[in-house]
Amino acid sequence: MKFDTDCLHAGYRPGNGEPRNIPIIQSTTFRYDTGEDMGRLFDLEASGYFYTRLQNPTNDTVAARICALEGGSAAMLLSSGQAASFFSIFNIASAGDHVVCSSAIYGGTYNLFAVTMKRMGIEFTFVDPDCTEGELAAAFRPNTKALFGETIANPALTVLDIEKFARVAHSHGVPLIVDNTFATPWGCRPFEWGADIVIHSTTKYLDGHAAAVGGAIVDSGNFDWEAHADKYPGLTTPDDSYHGVTYTERFGRGGAYITKAVAQLMRDFGSTPAPMNSFLLGLGIETLPLRMARHCSNALTLAKYLQNSPKVAWVRYAGLPEDKYHALAEKYLPKGACGVVSFGVRGGRAAAERFMAGLKLASIATHVADAKTCVLHPASATHRQMNDAELKAAGVSPDLVRFSVGLEDPEDLIADIKQALERV
Ligand SMILES: *Cc1c(COP(=O)(O)O)cnc(C)c1O
Repeated sequence: MKFDTDCLHAGYRPGNGEPRNIPIIQSTTFRYDTGEDMGRLFDLEASGYFYTRLQNPTNDTVAARICALEGGSAAMLLSSGQAASFFSIFNIASAGDHVVCSSAIYGGTYNLFAVTMKRMGIEFTFVDPDCTEGELAAAFRPNTKALFGETIANPALTVLDIEKFARVAHSHGVPLIVDNTFATPWGCRPFEWGADIVIHSTTKYLDGHAAAVGGAIVDSGNFDWEAHADKYPGLTTPDDSYHGVTYTERFGRGGAYITKAVAQLMRDFGSTPAPMNSFLLGLGIETLPLRMARHCSNALTLAKYLQNSPKVAWVRYAGLPEDKYHALAEKYLPKGACGVVSFGVRGGRAAAERFMAGLKLASIATHVADAKTCVLHPASATHRQMNDAELKAAGVSPDLVRFSVGLEDPEDLIADIKQALERV
């Protein structure tokens, strides 16, 4: 089926007399006739549900939909995008390992990697996503286990050269993990450009209505763990915590990574989404193509307006022909560069704050990528833990205003911006 059809039907085909909407299985547990039946589930010898901390039918149905949209081999939902970022790395890296990461990433991801996971003994090297292949290769070490980047970085709005990153990752025998939150699979399917694993904060466009925090991990099934067995013993040697199962042997290249993440990490960390939230996510995905087309066209209209305003110092939107990332956007994001526009208000930090206070329609919110327009000043919110040098490396200047363009009539949005700029 085509993408728009999969948004409505992938993962769930009701049978005769069954509900047309994905059922919300709001149950912690599932009953079995014999202890033996349940034992086989615990040993991963049979598939089925026993406890929602590990797996739940509503969650799996929606995961299957996202898997189809990304063109993957297996997928899982998590309780947040942060959990997805954490699991995606921790599933293949342990204390003493190293990861190379684009410096243009979400502030929460940066903190998770640079501070919290460092405390767990995993070291990250951050590289400018626009670096040469030689510079990127120079960041790798013998113990490097993954390369990580964002398709469209939040909030820097840089566009990742996925093919370049995939080439360098593969020449070092490690997978490329791409956070595809801002692009969504409607805008870009990173697997088609060589990425091996995709993660999402489903909190953003996939849900689309600011209703439920959530995350997803999708595996392409393309990375050959066994060809690099020495690097990934967790996937290619017996797991003592699961009666000696070897994930690559039992679940193949397409299933090993996600099965391990569910069986070990979900079991031990319990970052499970509520079935109700997964239902809301599935509902949101039904209209993803319609919403994304409108987000993109509204954002381009606003970006052009801002570009011509004397009160605006600069505008970053990869959909603008003048943007530094326009060529990459034309290649990787031909349908549109998402609904988020960044710009600087003339007069720096104080002017940015006055502009935001003057907005009447757009709300100030620590959010992006939902139906209603919202706006944020990252230097004083999501990125406030960073010093000036780190802000610069992440592509966030002190005057940067992140404008998440919603689905309102663009004329109303422009009128709101116009009156707020006049007050600066
Ligand atoms: C919001 C966001 C995250 C974190 O997701 P949560 O759902 O808030 O935990 C990760 N990556 C990107 C690109 C994001 O925008």
